[in-house]
Amino acid sequence: MDVDGGSKRVYNRLGGDAKHQKVCFHWQAGKCNRYPCPFLHSELPASSHANGASSKRAYDNTGLSGFSGQRGRPNFNNTWGRGGGRGGGGGRGAVVKAEKVCNYWIQGNCNYGERCKFLHSWKVGDGFSLLTQLEGHQKAVSAIAFPSGSDKLYTGSTDETARIWDCQSGKCVGVINLGGEVGCMISEGPWVFVGIPNFVKAWNTQNLMELSLNGPVGQVYALVVSNDMLFAGTQDGSILAWKFNVGNNCFEPAASLKGHSRGVVSLVVGANRLYSGSMDNTIRVWNLETLQCIQTLTEHTSVVMSVLCWEQFLLSCSLDKTVKVWYATESGNLEVTYTHNEEHGILTLCGMHDSQGKPILLGACNDNTVRLYDLPSFAERGKILTKQEVRAIQIGPNGIFFTGDGTGEVRVWNWSAEATATVQ
Ligand SMILES: [Zn+2]
Ligand SMILES: [Zn+2]
Repeated sequence: MDVDGGSKRVYNRLGGDAKHQKVCFHWQAGKCNRYPCPFLHSELPASSHANGASSKRAYDNTGLSGFSGQRGRPNFNNTWGRGGGRGGGGGRGAVVKAEKVCNYWIQGNCNYGERCKFLHSWKVGDGFSLLTQLEGHQKAVSAIAFPSGSDKLYTGSTDETARIWDCQSGKCVGVINLGGEVGCMISEGPWVFVGIPNFVKAWNTQNLMELSLNGPVGQVYALVVSNDMLFAGTQDGSILAWKFNVGNNCFEPAASLKGHSRGVVSLVVGANRLYSGSMDNTIRVWNLETLQCIQTLTEHTSVVMSVLCWEQFLLSCSLDKTVKVWYATESGNLEVTYTHNEEHGILTLCGMHDSQGKPILLGACNDNTVRLYDLPSFAERGKILTKQEVRAIQIGPNGIFFTGDGTGEVRVWNWSAEATATVQ
């Protein structure tokens, strides 16, 4: 049901108020019986059909502008941002496609075929493909977890349920009513942890033990595990920590990390540090042994939506429409070494490798796309188009990855081993 609504939204967005400017596809096929027909019975000029405002923006956006924040070290990490544009995307024929999905194709009846100037695909770029779609959630997919070694996928939604999917059949094999919107979900070993308002639920997928950890005030937006510690970023700005007690097989409250003045929406662990991104626009760096805050990064000007460790770098994205790359100086403090501008704003980041082992950064943008960037060049490698914005991206096994969007749809993607025709 919600999926149909999503299609309508895409349809409206593609056509919008200018739907009378669309060429009638029945007329195109020589058999329009509508009178009066709301669509044009004549061809549009090619330029206005293919170069809509949004596709023009998309192409302009590939002009990466190099570096920022070098701070007197001109040769330092100088490979960041040497992208200059999309690398993939070859082999799509002579027709330059507007980067919009064809609404007739979505409805299964586009008569333009190869000549259609809109996409007959949910993606642009080579080397990856859509395997299947998982439909069931009634509202936005807010989290996806894939326990390693499992054959089950877990998804959480603002429809207040978690769904369990069998990876062989693609069928939903369980729906768990949580009584609150899912804020986040991760897996670690046999455990799946789910953040909901005022609680973290912990499910052991092997012995089926269920625990409910209280302490959070408001929504739990982010979870991360380091060694035997579980950290939860909460709506009131604190980060709660639990320690796993092997003897009692339970999680015991261990600490509350104070410092952020607003909700903590992203957490990541790397190099014996915990990094927290917040609605107070800052990233805090915490020593994992002392649990003390050792640095506060204040260079973002809006909510820090996602933090990610890649090699020796910290990457962060913000509603200020930038991705920042941070690197530790000799003193140990983090400084910005590169800023990538993304005009639509990036909601979440995920890093993975393609089928040839190249590092790829996936960024879910606020314009209903997921952009795929090569690292460290930030060259745009491809793009996924969705019905609404993607709020969750998760890596699976064997080159598989998952996206969940605002309509409740989960998509399963695969990096394939096919040769990629890259244009450098
Ligand atoms: Zn017509
Ligand atoms: Zn079409």
